[in-house]
Amino acid sequence: MNLNFSAQDQAFRQEVRTFIARALPADIQHKVVNGLILERDDYVRWQQALHAQGWGGSSWAREFGGTGWSAVQKYIFEEEVAAAGAPRIIPFGVKMVAPVIMAFGSPAQQQRFLPKILSAEEWWCQGYSEPGSGSDLASVQTAAQRDGDHYLVNGQKTWTTQAQYADWIFCLVRTDREAKPQRGISFLLIDMKTPGITVRPIITMDGAHEVNEVWFDNVRVPVENLVGEENAGWTYAKFLLGHERTNIAGIGIAKRELARLKRIASQETKHGKALIQDPQFALRIAQIQVDLTALEITNLRVLSAEEQRKTPGPEASILKIKGTEIQQAITELMTQAVGLYALPLRRDAMAAGYQGEHAGPAYATSLAANYLNMRKLSIYGGSNEIQKNIIAQMILGL
Ligand SMILES: Cc1cc2nc3c(=O)[nH]c(=O)nc-3n(C[C@H](O)[C@H](O)[C@H](O)COP(=O)(O)OP(=O)(O)OC[C@H]3O[C@@H](n4cnc5c(N)ncnc54)[C@H](O)[C@@H]3O)c2cc1C
Repeated sequence: MNLNFSAQDQAFRQEVRTFIARALPADIQHKVVNGLILERDDYVRWQQALHAQGWGGSSWAREFGGTGWSAVQKYIFEEEVAAAGAPRIIPFGVKMVAPVIMAFGSPAQQQRFLPKILSAEEWWCQGYSEPGSGSDLASVQTAAQRDGDHYLVNGQKTWTTQAQYADWIFCLVRTDREAKPQRGISFLLIDMKTPGITVRPIITMDGAHEVNEVWFDNVRVPVENLVGEENAGWTYAKFLLGHERTNIAGIGIAKRELARLKRIASQETKHGKALIQDPQFALRIAQIQVDLTALEITNLRVLSAEEQRKTPGPEASILKIKGTEIQQAITELMTQAVGLYALPLRRDAMAAGYQGEHAGPAYATSLAANYLNMRKLSIYGGSNEIQKNIIAQMILGL
């Protein structure tokens, strides 16, 4: 195992930094670094900038227009863009459905969908979860019944992130009610403009419209939008979740947010001194720093193993748990640093260009919403409890 970056990797890191300095729009960077509200267009512009560089598919194989980067290069790239204040790459197309289409889709599906994912012309959302099916995903009930050369889809998905922006949704649907739950699921690509689809917003406790319910009422989907084989969707669904877990530790994001925490703690005061000099507060920051460094080393160990084996293993669960705990701990300390000024929850003041008054320092305005929003990290992408089950079974053999 080699945990040091090679000279080539270091040169690559420099290349990524040079690109970011040139291509990351300053207004978008400002929003990310200060926790302000990002619009659809911000994500799209960043994806387009990556695409123009040939880096739109950072984790894709070259034959599909990707970079063909190694696991270490992908890691360096993700870490650098996050630390620099780039928005997250819209994951649903690039990182979720695209790998499935590449591995299991027909050549016609590959030609139809992949280029528009790369160029951000089409926005995707993920239709896995339902009101009764989250952790227990194999119990999905949304039904797709064959009707000639179409499927007739009926049911409901929920927690569908950014469905309000989406042109397409990839869905797990039940095509066989008699078979074992895992054997009766298919993977369908559905045009969001099809009659019978209704998107209803869910407003989360931070006041954001990030997630939705998506309802299907006799939605007609052409059979050619089925990925792979009918009733084999569970295999594709699991394959996708494996991809969702790569780079799950969020090291770059945690580094950026830790730097923000330190900036805030340097400006806040306690007994006439900068808060960051308060021994108790400094100790808590130091603990996060230590945890983050340990996680980074663990991540490199996993990457080193992945380079040999080529697929992400169950160790990704460790990265998910620790990574999300660290990110949540940072948001907690940020709110504590500003005390009462974290209390007002004002989304209008979190928009870039807001000219009105802030209750306290401007940097405090987004902290409560950020704290509340980041609770999601331990729920989605396989909840942290489910990750602990995976560790217990697959790593500890319990
Ligand atoms: C902000 C946000 C965005 C999301 N975006 C999407 C999206 O775009 N598309 C999509 O399809 N889904 C999305 N989800 C849904 C997400 O994947 C589910 O919320 C998640 O899988 C948990 O499922 P659930 O909410 O049904 O909770 P449940 O599965 O009902 O779990 C409830 C609690 O019980 C625990 N639990 C459940 N089973 C076990 C077990 N076997 N052992 C131990 N503990 C267990 C869980 O950890 C949790 O604490 C999103 C969720 C959130 C919060």
